[in-house]
Amino acid sequence: MARILIIGAGGVGNVVAHKCAQLPEIFSQIMLASRTETKCRQIADNVRFRTGSNILTAQLDADQTLEIVRLIEFFKPELVINVALPYQDLSIMDACLETGVNYLDTANYEPPDEARFEYKWQWAYHEKFEKKGIMALLGSGFDPGVTNVFCAYALKHRFDEIHELDIIDCNAGDHGHPFATNFNPEINIREVTAKGKYWKDGNWVETDPLAESMIFDFPEGIGPKKCYLMYHEELESLVKHIKGLKKARFWMTFSDNYLKHLEVLQNVGMTRIDPVNYNGVEIIPLKFLKVLLPDPSSLGPVTKGKTCIGCLIKGVKDGALRQYYTYNICDHEAAFKEVGAQAISYTTGVPAMIGAMMIVTGKWTGKGVFNMEQFDPDPFMEQLNKRGLPWTEIIWKD
Ligand code: NDP
Repeated sequence: MARILIIGAGGVGNVVAHKCAQLPEIFSQIMLASRTETKCRQIADNVRFRTGSNILTAQLDADQTLEIVRLIEFFKPELVINVALPYQDLSIMDACLETGVNYLDTANYEPPDEARFEYKWQWAYHEKFEKKGIMALLGSGFDPGVTNVFCAYALKHRFDEIHELDIIDCNAGDHGHPFATNFNPEINIREVTAKGKYWKDGNWVETDPLAESMIFDFPEGIGPKKCYLMYHEELESLVKHIKGLKKARFWMTFSDNYLKHLEVLQNVGMTRIDPVNYNGVEIIPLKFLKVLLPDPSSLGPVTKGKTCIGCLIKGVKDGALRQYYTYNICDHEAAFKEVGAQAISYTTGVPAMIGAMMIVTGKWTGKGVFNMEQFDPDPFMEQLNKRGLPWTEIIWKD
């Protein structure tokens, strides 16, 4: 029985709150805190309506470590689940260190003025967390998150060595808007417009944004889709922890419509993250654009179709070459029916809850800062099947 503090009342925070409230025997008391408390209260009302459980709410500026420390001292959680924005990762980790409370997030820290996706800032906390006797679990969403666990599971059960990895993320859903992003628009556009990067023979190879593509035939009726090579943060930790990896890439599907709008927005400067002067006021164009775009949490009722995220792996088992694909299919409308969210928030929020479950039930223990693939994948994989994200495996032997 554990008390948990969830920070961030967006699309993902809504799912984490619902999924934790479905398991009162594990998460005995839940507090949801965010910058805008009315959003926490709306989620709390929906959670009560759907599950019958009460959750507490609080207003919190998670950029202020002292505010977080005070809330932790008041509520006394065993774990803080950070599903605010990546900018808050370090201030929340600092508060956890000061109060001796475990930490979990779904996205690596990014400095607000620079779109860089690196674990170095958070890995630098390892010794401090170790000394304090607490753990931080980084990237417990789907990608990063489940994709890392898929790799650990493949290495434990299906391969002796993994040589090549392609993480392939497809959102085949349709929300009917000319242009919208499925999670925080600012974070999403920073990620998509960044340079691509992949791992090959011991080096990182950089590519222009979305310059490389392939067609992948997705299972279960989704069919062939164009996928674009991007850099994604889990590549950094997987290359470090999965020894022998010769090639590692990340691919994501985008519709022609999304790419057309993005190109225009970039060309006119609306995706810039440096301040510009407008009538004597400094504004950041991308933050302004975020205000104009549909709120991702509003896409739930209108999104139809499925997501398919998986890992295509090549390697060796018992001396023979093997190719393996493991994936999850998530249906937008089914997710909305269950927790009032579209599948992108659902596929992130469910693994955040499962990661929290691993920590508070003692299935995953450690002192320091960890990525998902560093733990035994089996109990996590078992919970994916039970908690709404079932997975399928296909093995080809050469
Ligand atoms: P949203 O923008 O919908 O929600 C973010 C929430 O954080 C909002 O409620 C926002 O408050 C709150 N917030 C922002 N700044 C602060 C602050 N200083 N103090 C307190 N609260 C704050 O984002 P999502 O729910 O879509 O995404 C949440 C996280 O999940 C992001 O870090 C994202 O990168 C990550 N993610 C991870 C994925 C994965 O697979 N690993 C996939 C998708 C997302 P307000 O409502 O006032 O704006």
